[in-house]
Parts: sequence; structure tokens; C-alpha cells
Amino acid sequence: NADAAMYRVKEAGRNGCEFFTHEMQARSARHLRIVTALRQAIEGQQLSVVYQPQMSLKDGSLVGAEALLRWTHPELGFISPAEFIPIAESSGLIVPVGGWVLRKAVRQAVAWRAAGGAPLRMAVNLSAAQFRHADLSAMVGHILQEEGLHPGELELELTEGAVAQKPQQAIDVMNGLRAQGIHLAIDDFGTGYSSMSYLKKFNAHKLKIDQSFVRDISRDADDRAIVTAVIEMAKRLNMTTIAEGVETAEQLAFLQKHGCDQIQGYIYSKPLTPSDFEAFARQPPQLLPAGSPRAHGGLVAL
Ligand code: C2E
Ligand code: MG
Ligand code: MG
Ligand code: MG
Repeated sequence: NADAAMYRVKEAGRNGCEFFTHEMQARSARHLRIVTALRQAIEGQQLSVVYQPQMSLKDGSLVGAEALLRWTHPELGFISPAEFIPIAESSGLIVPVGGWVLRKAVRQAVAWRAAGGAPLRMAVNLSAAQFRHADLSAMVGHILQEEGLHPGELELELTEGAVAQKPQQAIDVMNGLRAQGIHLAIDDFGTGYSSMSYLKKFNAHKLKIDQSFVRDISRDADDRAIVTAVIEMAKRLNMTTIAEGVETAEQLAFLQKHGCDQIQGYIYSKPLTPSDFEAFARQPPQLLPAGSPRAHGGLVAL
């Protein structure tokens, strides 16, 4: 009856509200805890960097690595970058933390080159806050010089969000990086709001197709249409394409067939510690379909 129903609605509203308040409190407490803890994380040696292989779809070779930050706090345990990177960004801590990652990854690239491995390009994520620093280009150049890495062996990943806020400044910084020979990649492409005209002005070398478009390639015709169109567009803009989050043989085959240049995903490997990465590099798995035209350097009919 009506009274009972009204009671249930009120009850639900009250509980919902309490739950909401508790959750909000718990969240902001954790947020504060993370900000405080993150300040100590670098000094406390709680941060590390793992490296995910980037593979060529032409011949299945290893062509690059993306440096990804990891944080294990002594009490809080493993904290996902999906949780702490946004907090690091909003608190400004991403500037020192991101600088630490960059130097660490550059050093790793130098060490791998010195060990005589095949040439790799090291990709490092840059956040909007780092990108807003006017002297970013000089700072990166400085690190490369100090550590002895050729600029062409470094790739910086920027999201559309990082470049869309102040497009003109972004274009200036990107030009400064480009002029040094550093490679630029647009990360998570298709999830932001940048227009096609910016894509042209940004003049990046590489476009990373976001994993949200790759995930359902086998089931979703719209995603297939988007992915093939993005690959085609990037080609005409002379950009290299890499698909993120590739997990299945079906996704790999589709991307290869449609001329995507590279892939990165669990099908080859999760992000690896330096020593696991070295083992991977010595013997990368052979996953390209045998006899596939591109594996033999031929052209694929689209
Ligand atoms: P991202 O730059 O787009 O990095 C790719 C993310 O996808 C990584 O998550 C990687 O582990 C994950 N991934 C790769 N292949 C697969 C796959 O096949 N399946 C699935 N489900 N996931 C896959 P991770 O390491 O958790 O990083 C998440 C995000 O955190 C990154 O997304 C990046 O935006 C940010 N991040 C990580 N390290 C740094 C850093 O040093 N600086 C900055 N500014 N951001 C970072
Ligand atoms: Mg990235
Ligand atoms: Mg991405
Ligand atoms: Mg991302």
C-alpha cells in the first residue's frame, strides 16, 4: 500500500544519503592519505617503473617500451596508477614524480642500449601539469644530455586533455620537443575532445588508439569502423599507429589486416620489471599469423 511504499522510499533515501556521506568521507580521507604518502614515496623508494613491450605488426619485432609507474606503500600496499595519478595531478606532485619517472626510464634505455639490445624507443607519459611548464622542452633536453640518450630514442606520450587546455602553448612546447628530435605520441586517442584541426597542428609522430575501441572489435561494428578510419586518417597524416590493450588473436589479426603499425597489450606482455623485460627481448613470442602477407614484408589489401 501507499504508506508502506512511501516509508520504503524515505528509508532508502536516508540510507542512500548516509552511505553517500560515509563514502565521501572515506574517499577524501584516503585522498589526503595518498597526497601525504606520495610526498614521501620518492624518498622512501616506494616507486618503481615497469616497461610494457611495443611490437611491430610488420614483422613481429620488439620496437619500443612504455614506462609505467608503480607504487607500493608499506601500509597501504599496491596503489593503482588509475587512483594515484589523478591525485598526483591535482596536487601538483606529478611534476616531481613525473620528472623522476622520466629520468629513470631514460637511464633504463641507456642501459639497454649499452647492453647491446636491439634499438628500442622508450615511451614516457607526460601529464597536463608537467606539460604546462614552459621550460619542459629545455628540462627534457637537459635530462637526455646528462644521461646520454639520443633524443630520437625517447617518445613522450600526451593525452588530448593535456594539449587541449592551452592549445597554442601546447603547440609551442611540442614544437620545442620535436625540434630536438624527440618523438611525440597522442595517448588514449579518441577519448578526449581535441578537434581534427588540432591533430594536424600538434604534428605528433604517433597516434595511440585507445583500448576502449580495441576491446570490442570482434563484437562491435562501430568500433571496427572507428579503428579502421583512425588508422587510415593517421596514415594520411604520416603518423604511426599503435593500438593499446590488445588481448586476443582476433584483435591482433584485425589490426594487422587493416594496416595498424604496432600493438601494445597483454597478448604479448603485461608491463614488466627491467629483468623480465630483458628476458622478453631475448625471445619475443611469435604471434603473427604464419604466412600473413605483412610478416613477409608485402602489402596487405585493405
Ligand atoms: P596509459 O598511458 O594509457 O597506459 C596504458 C595502460 O593500459 C597501462 O595501465 C597498462 O598496464 C594497461 N594495459 C596495457 N595493455 C593492456 C591490455 O592488454 N589490457 C588491459 N586491460 N590493460 C592494458 P597502468 O599501468 O595501470 O596505467 C594507467 C594509466 O596511468 C596510464 O594509462 C597513464 O595514463 C597513467 N600513468 C602510468 N604511469 C604514468 C606516469 O609515469 N606518468 C603519468 N603522467 N601517467 C602515468
Ligand atoms: Mg601512455
Ligand atoms: Mg593509453
Ligand atoms: Mg590512459
